[in-house]
Amino acid sequence: MIHKFNFVFIITLVITLVLISTFAQMDRAIERHRAVRLARQRRAPDSNGDKRSAFLKDYYFYDVYHKRSHDENIKANPRSTQIEKNPKICIVGAGLAGLFSALLLKEAGINDITILEYQDRVGGRIHTHYFTDNPNDEKRLYGELGAMRLPYIKGRPDLSPHQLVFDTVEYLNEYNKKDDPNRVIKLIPFIFSNPNALYYFNNKKASSGEIMTSNYSKSIGVKQLGLPDTIPDNYLILWDDAVKPFYDELDKNFTNGLINLKRYDHHTTYSYLKEAYLPKVLPSKKPADYDEIISAIEVQEFGTGDFRHYGFVPTVLELYTFSDPNYNISWSTIDKGMQRFPNAYLPMIKKENINLKYNSEVYKLEKTNNSNIKVFWKNNRKSVSETFDRVIVTVPLGVVRHWDLPLTLSYKKRNAIREIDYEFAGKIFLQFKSRFWEKPPSESGANPTTSNIGIIGGATFTDLPIRTIAYPSYYKGTSADKPGILLVSYTWCNDAKKYAQFNEEERFELALKDLATIHGDIAYKEWVPGKKNNKAHYWPNDRTTGGAYSYFGVGQLESLVGAMIRPEECIHWCGEHTDIHNSWTVGALNSAVRVVKEILLENLMSDKWLKLKNTRLLNHWNGNLEVFEDY
Ligand SMILES: Cc1cc2nc3c(=O)[nH]c(=O)nc-3n(C[C@H](O)[C@H](O)[C@H](O)COP(=O)(O)OP(=O)(O)OC[C@H]3O[C@@H](n4cnc5c(N)ncnc54)[C@H](O)[C@@H]3O)c2cc1C
Repeated sequence: MIHKFNFVFIITLVITLVLISTFAQMDRAIERHRAVRLARQRRAPDSNGDKRSAFLKDYYFYDVYHKRSHDENIKANPRSTQIEKNPKICIVGAGLAGLFSALLLKEAGINDITILEYQDRVGGRIHTHYFTDNPNDEKRLYGELGAMRLPYIKGRPDLSPHQLVFDTVEYLNEYNKKDDPNRVIKLIPFIFSNPNALYYFNNKKASSGEIMTSNYSKSIGVKQLGLPDTIPDNYLILWDDAVKPFYDELDKNFTNGLINLKRYDHHTTYSYLKEAYLPKVLPSKKPADYDEIISAIEVQEFGTGDFRHYGFVPTVLELYTFSDPNYNISWSTIDKGMQRFPNAYLPMIKKENINLKYNSEVYKLEKTNNSNIKVFWKNNRKSVSETFDRVIVTVPLGVVRHWDLPLTLSYKKRNAIREIDYEFAGKIFLQFKSRFWEKPPSESGANPTTSNIGIIGGATFTDLPIRTIAYPSYYKGTSADKPGILLVSYTWCNDAKKYAQFNEEERFELALKDLATIHGDIAYKEWVPGKKNNKAHYWPNDRTTGGAYSYFGVGQLESLVGAMIRPEECIHWCGEHTDIHNSWTVGALNSAVRVVKEILLENLMSDKWLKLKNTRLLNHWNGNLEVFEDY
């Protein structure tokens, strides 16, 4: 009897175990099938967003991007049937993000690459305007409409978030030095600040009647600077002290520092200073006094309106690159123009048969029945289209906003495209017969200054509409009697907008007027008039951008950037606005590494990603993706 009972029990147990194991296998097969299908279709997280992200957390993104920074742990999911070993890829935009994506894909052995570029040149917001026909001549008559300076930390490449830029320059130089030595990029110092550059605020001059140098301005009190006496003499030190703890944390560990900083993402800089900081350090002042202090800091350190318009976090991050007191930040630029950086990719593009199509304006992306992406563009008014396995979009959002996009893109993605803020910025370059500013004023006849020393490099700051005059570093060592281009006005935010209503020639005249107020009538005497000799560029009016660079508004870092970055429908989102070092060249490069990583992993080529990641080129890449919740 006992034996019979045992026998029945054992048989029942075995059957139960077999059934459990079969169901578990079926379950896993179903889940795996879903994983394959979803990953393939890149289906958007519509109303099921949360479920999807939980799902993806289990299966893919969370493991790869959130949890494990050590890629050694990556194991490809078995999705063999629909995976392309050599996917056909379209890169939209030949700015630095697009060009670097192409370079990395090529390095990973992917060779079916098309780049569609609207303009007839590469580089996008790296755009040197040459005033002579020969960009290589020794006159150096050029101005940087976009990026003009590259930061680094001398002797400590491991500490600089911008090191990837320099590693890329080195890679390109290595590539070009044998076959195309004219393409080799020469880095030269960019003189960032100059104690003899000038300071002209509130129509104030030194008591001697001379224009103040920035050095001199630091030696006098607020009253002599024309500021209300509610503002303490140390008002700029207050600002440094307000941000120093954040810099310290970022320096200790960038990701942890950023996670801490993100707690303040609900603040503008104005609200942080007014509500969280100033009442702590100046408890006896009135709220109206705080406003005066905040305004005095903003006008000196930022564009008018930046403190009220943008988030505190992006402002700290932006200034962190410029003025982290913990490191001595050095600056470089490229001799004969930053344009030489994107141009240095051209030999590689040719040699590797990358299909670079100029004058191609993309306006639509459509999902095909088999989940590929059809790209539509106009070439000389003719509409063209082609289907690709994957598309990398590097184009600024002011442009993408007007495209027809797959209707299945997620709610969050559409919101991010619509909402992410861009900074306004404008530059006005004037040409002069001689570089009078480089001579001592007593020699050139310019307005006398408190130093009587000529200015090579650095910047003059003023509250006049031109706001910042940036003196080129690249004439150093050549005669000041030779002609030169001067960046007479570099403006942001409301200061930039205040030029929007004027045409280019009117902007030249306005800029010249302010320059003469500071440097004297010599500016009028030495000016070379004419449209071809001068240049004004207002980035929001640029058809290829619709803004200067992304500058996240309050809460946007927290709520939008992760969703912006996440790939959907075989479309990968790239460009400076998709990186934490946004608004910098390095942001564009970082984002290219990320999308190439996404593509290699999606196509089960983790071996190739690991190999690529371990190259010298990517030694200093740090995507810092773990800070984005939604990615
Ligand atoms: C005024 C200004 C000053 C700056 N200063 C600095 C600096 O000093 N240092 C620094 O490191 N960074 C600086 N930057 C930022 C830096 O220039 C950018 O972060 C970087 O160049 C962006 O590269 P990207 O590839 O993401 O975008 P982009 O360079 O904008 O590339 C996008 C490409 O897409 C193309 N495109 C646009 N629309 C279409 C379309 N419909 N179809 C096909 N192609 C299209 C564009 O022509 C462009 O080539 C500055 C930027 C500006 C605007």
